[in-house]
Amino acid sequence: MIRKNLLLSAIVLSLLSVPAAAQVKERWFKGNTHTHTLNSDGDSTPDAAVTWYRERGYNFVFITDHEYITDVAPLNALFAQADQFLVISGQEVTDSYNGKPYHSNGLGITKAIMPAKLSGAVETLQKNIDEIVAAGGVAQINHPNFGWALTAEHLIKLRGYSLLEIHNGHFLVNNQGSIDSPSAESLWDAVLSSGKAVYAIADDDSHSFKRIGDPTASTPGHGWIYVRAKELTRNAILEGLRTGNFYASTGVELTDVELGPKQVSVSIRALTNSRYRTQFIGKNGKMLTETGANPAVYQITGNEGYVRARIVESNGKMAWTQAVFVPSR
Ligand SMILES: [Zn+2]
Ligand SMILES: [Zn+2]
Repeated sequence: MIRKNLLLSAIVLSLLSVPAAAQVKERWFKGNTHTHTLNSDGDSTPDAAVTWYRERGYNFVFITDHEYITDVAPLNALFAQADQFLVISGQEVTDSYNGKPYHSNGLGITKAIMPAKLSGAVETLQKNIDEIVAAGGVAQINHPNFGWALTAEHLIKLRGYSLLEIHNGHFLVNNQGSIDSPSAESLWDAVLSSGKAVYAIADDDSHSFKRIGDPTASTPGHGWIYVRAKELTRNAILEGLRTGNFYASTGVELTDVELGPKQVSVSIRALTNSRYRTQFIGKNGKMLTETGANPAVYQITGNEGYVRARIVESNGKMAWTQAVFVPSR
């Protein structure tokens, strides 16, 4: 009898759990991983900064003040009930060495980390990254070309970071590089080419919510990510960041991204008056092919090292998928 009951309850449980599991589908959640407020050098309160994002269709925002953890509990109490929106704590660990800035974001950390102030760019940044990871955070290296601080060699030597800003919305960070310094995106290719799985971030580094439209202010709305997750929770978003289950964008929306062992494909939410080309990029930033098709599909041959997609819209908006590594044959 006991056995029969157990069997029966097992059947009931499986009947209950199958439809429940099937119902929970992954969705895309839009968010910004780099935001400043009055708690450091931003011009607005945390409420005002968060409100800006919430009212413009974002689903989450990390507050990353310099050397200060903004308490997100009251913000979540204020905003979460109204609709689906989540604020996650973090910090920009603001270090320097030899007059150059070495900044990293501790995403999800709940206690402020003091900058290491060591000798050497790699030593300094490595200590900060280690502290972020030890505190349970996801480490993001910020604006590598700000102050022309970071080189490919630095980024290849550094360990334990998950994320690299390839598009920071601040107007002084030199995303595009120079004649003798690679763009932030090319730095990412150098890191990927070394075999390191690091994920690309586009974000705002927003400071000025009161000077919208001013090109000499670091305003919001320039770059973001879409994380693919089953639910909008702190853990699900942090897990998406840790595992690269997201893409970066400055305005191109994707409805699907497949980074498989056999093919990479993207489906674009195309706007009527725009045209799109999808560029598939391999080791050392090599352009493998480009296409105007939607969905855009690339069949992996086995010699690419890695494959990633960059989608360029005819007015300059972009999206970047993460890379899938191709095991050498
Ligand atoms: Zn910074
Ligand atoms: Zn910043």
